[in-house]
Amino acid sequence: MSLDIFELIWELSQDSQIRQNAGEVAAARDGVDSAREEIRDLRTCVFRLTRTCQVLCNVLTEKLGIPADELKSALVKEMNLEAVRQMQTCPSCGHTFHPNRTKCLYCGYAPER
Ligand SMILES: [Zn+2]
Repeated sequence: MSLDIFELIWELSQDSQIRQNAGEVAAARDGVDSAREEIRDLRTCVFRLTRTCQVLCNVLTEKLGIPADELKSALVKEMNLEAVRQMQTCPSCGHTFHPNRTKCLYCGYAPER
């Protein structure tokens, strides 16, 4: 059997297209990997900032006697932070945590979902 010239051109054209698509897929995967890495880093930053804020609020409450509800109200009022408004008190240890978290940062209490 022999390929005629048109089949040969078609085959070469398809081969070229497949290689080009494979390159684009590889580039897209690299982009996704890079975005995932950036999201992971940002989550780590948010986690640390959240933890820092929680520790500072607890220090203000424990050392200076400022009630947690007062701190919460001030943060909501001054910063209009919806996330702060949603903060809940852990039923296990009494520290505050955001309901989006799967567990309390202090004691590991996991609210039912
Ligand atoms: Zn707790």
